[in-house]
Amino acid sequence: MSNLKMKEAALIYLDRSGGLQKFIDDCKYYNDSKQSYAVYRFNILINPSDVVELYAELGNHILHHPLKAAQVFQSVCFIAVKTLSLIGQLQTETQINIVLKLTHLPSLPSYCLDLCEFPVDYTSQRFYIMQGIVIAITTVTKYTQGARFLCSDEACPFSKGFQYVRVHVPGATESATIRNDFLCNLCSSSLQEDRKFRVLGDKQIVEIIATEALHAFQGYSKNQPFRFQSLTIFLRDELVNKMNIGNEYKIIGIPTCVKTSQTAVCIEANSITLCHLKVPSGISDNFRCLLSLTSSSCWKFTAILANIFASHIVPPGTYNLLKLCLLMSLVQTSDRNKESEDCLDILIITSDTLLIDRLLNFSINLFPHGIRHPGSTEIFPTLSRNKYGTGAVSIQAGSALLAKDGICFIGDLSSHKKDKLEQLQSVLESRSITVYIPGKKFGDDIDQQMTFPVQCSFWSFVDMDSSSRRNTQKNNTLIGQMDCSLIPANLVETFGLLINCNESSPCHPHFPTVQHTLKKAIDPEGLFYFASKQFTTEDFEKLLAFAKNLDVEFSLEAERMIHGYYLASRRIRTDFIYGSKLSASALKYLGHCILCCSKCSISL
Ligand SMILES: [Zn+2]
Repeated sequence: MSNLKMKEAALIYLDRSGGLQKFIDDCKYYNDSKQSYAVYRFNILINPSDVVELYAELGNHILHHPLKAAQVFQSVCFIAVKTLSLIGQLQTETQINIVLKLTHLPSLPSYCLDLCEFPVDYTSQRFYIMQGIVIAITTVTKYTQGARFLCSDEACPFSKGFQYVRVHVPGATESATIRNDFLCNLCSSSLQEDRKFRVLGDKQIVEIIATEALHAFQGYSKNQPFRFQSLTIFLRDELVNKMNIGNEYKIIGIPTCVKTSQTAVCIEANSITLCHLKVPSGISDNFRCLLSLTSSSCWKFTAILANIFASHIVPPGTYNLLKLCLLMSLVQTSDRNKESEDCLDILIITSDTLLIDRLLNFSINLFPHGIRHPGSTEIFPTLSRNKYGTGAVSIQAGSALLAKDGICFIGDLSSHKKDKLEQLQSVLESRSITVYIPGKKFGDDIDQQMTFPVQCSFWSFVDMDSSSRRNTQKNNTLIGQMDCSLIPANLVETFGLLINCNESSPCHPHFPTVQHTLKKAIDPEGLFYFASKQFTTEDFEKLLAFAKNLDVEFSLEAERMIHGYYLASRRIRTDFIYGSKLSASALKYLGHCILCCSKCSISL
């Protein structure tokens, strides 16, 4: 009785939500194709709140027994096909494969799956919602959506028809759908698959980590090996290629236990939504106050900002050029999937690597997607065989793709091997990376390649002391007064900004730094600087998050500056003698810096 009521409610819901009309349209497509399949797949959009309001028991069924609920809709749809003669070729109810697509889940803790919690409940086979960042994806492979089996005894009535249809259900492995040890219920003969009816779908496997796990990449665990557990998500059919490396998603799915060469909890995804970072509504009162005090000049605010930035690491007033450039690079990132050429990469030449390292570490921590590349891993994607034995190749993100819409700090440039530096140079030039998948190596007939956009700014430094110590031939490659002989000149050139922080530069005043360090040692509370007390790290976090999402336009002055600079640069380029001194990319970035400056100052 209850089952009948449930079917009635399902039909009413389908009718009211427009789902019935969509189902009829989908049937028409199958009917017109005249092709006969083992199974016919239909997606039905379900809004759980609406269903619960209509008939609580059906809503409960959908949320907590989704496989059984799908059967309710399956028989309703079969009746519809038969009474309305929707698909001529369709014979049995088992041929209908219903996938209930949920719009959302109730926002209650019991529906959330915390990736940090253990163990994961995979036995209840119900929907959960979870959130995570994609760290690896596989190539797309095929799976069997459905197959038709026939009794091998020709005298048996089940040697014809659609008595034995097997359909993929969430969490099932390939071998559950297709096997050769099924027996006929009627005569116990073995069943054989009728291959021409097999229906194939697309499948992709994605690995996600909890958002909190990204903190492991942020600075402080430097050189400490670490590992974190990822969770495997199965994407099928229309969900394939809907997730990108480095992005954060909310996923509704059914946890399940997959047993292949190893046993692991996986999620069969039902729906995916891209998460957007929350953009703060404004800046802190401290900065608002500073802004109104400095409103007379369009540069003052930015200058003060650079002056006081990271004042617990370097004394206010020192390293201002570097700090200004770091702030510019930080506000150039965006959460809105903008053109990747907005990036501003920074290379610092310094003899004080310890301090620079601390300053850069602090800066990337102001960002959710600031990644400090751990030396033990790869900067760019790597390949591995997928552990679920699906024949797919898994592409692991690497630091650069994880730093999507943020900063990837790769430490000392000379600590990377020559081939990695060549790879870095090509990425800096093209803002994308192509991964080649040799078919032979991974048991496939064809070679494949996948290209990923690299949407982050790279920060790095070169230790000047070790550079000059290791290399006596100083006159080899000189950029201005700096010796970069360890790093190929064309690589240096691909960085948007090259900042000289050596002892003779105004960027590197020794004395105040020493004094600052001493004062900090005496007063560990760090209350010496009024500025650092007034503007907290949180203030800066808010300011940067706000500023980077602003849409800015050039002011008249800025435009005039750029115009003047272009005129000058054209003159330089056409001049044969001086033309060779300033590269085209250097010119490009000079203009770029003016644009950044205007974003920092004018827009606020
Ligand atoms: Zn039989």
